[in-house]
Amino acid sequence: MVEEKRYKWRREGYQENTKGLLMVNTGDGKGKTTCALGLMMRAAGRGMRCCMIQFMKSKTDRYGEHESAEELGIEVHTMGDGFTWDTNSLEQDIKTSQETWALCVEKMRSEEYDLLVFDELVYVLDYKFLDLQEVINELKSVREKKPHLHIVLTGRNAPQELIDISDLVTEMKEIKHPFHAGIYAQQGIEF
Ligand code: ATP
Ligand code: MG
Repeated sequence: MVEEKRYKWRREGYQENTKGLLMVNTGDGKGKTTCALGLMMRAAGRGMRCCMIQFMKSKTDRYGEHESAEELGIEVHTMGDGFTWDTNSLEQDIKTSQETWALCVEKMRSEEYDLLVFDELVYVLDYKFLDLQEVINELKSVREKKPHLHIVLTGRNAPQELIDISDLVTEMKEIKHPFHAGIYAQQGIEF
């Protein structure tokens, strides 16, 4: 069903007019991940093949977006088994980050996608769980080989080096957040 729709929506030769973008959603306000999800929803409606890899969510977490993504044929991958970000083990955090990045590299090098979202990769870079230069080199190399591929990265505190190689950088700026009024994460809004 999803595959059938995908072919219906896909325009012939659309890639010929496509300039792949490297996009970054950063800043301390809410909306970085939901913006990337909205973009995938739009792209899926054009028959584009989308995949999101989430660095910060455990494999056992099931969010609203996971249910919807499935319906739209958007592939989603979350972290390894039983991993939590409160392990207090730097070694474990680094290992998980590297394994997740290896999956990102595999997806970028494959011919199967039009839009890739690496959710919270920027956070992981900010925490130095991954080597920034290595990530930048890989992104540059993939973009040379795949000029039509769109890539979105999310997370706070995007480093200048990443901003420099990106085409579109948006900062979500907090003006007000319900958290400060004691309203915590809600179903359908945060997860
Ligand atoms: P969302 O997934 O809702 O688009 P986000 O990706 O921009 O949010 P993250 O930095 O990934 O935000 O933070 C994850 C969670 O923290 C979200 O549930 C979000 O509502 C919450 N959050 C974001 N900004 C703030 C803030 N300024 N104060 C408190 N909580 C926040
Ligand atoms: Mg997020």
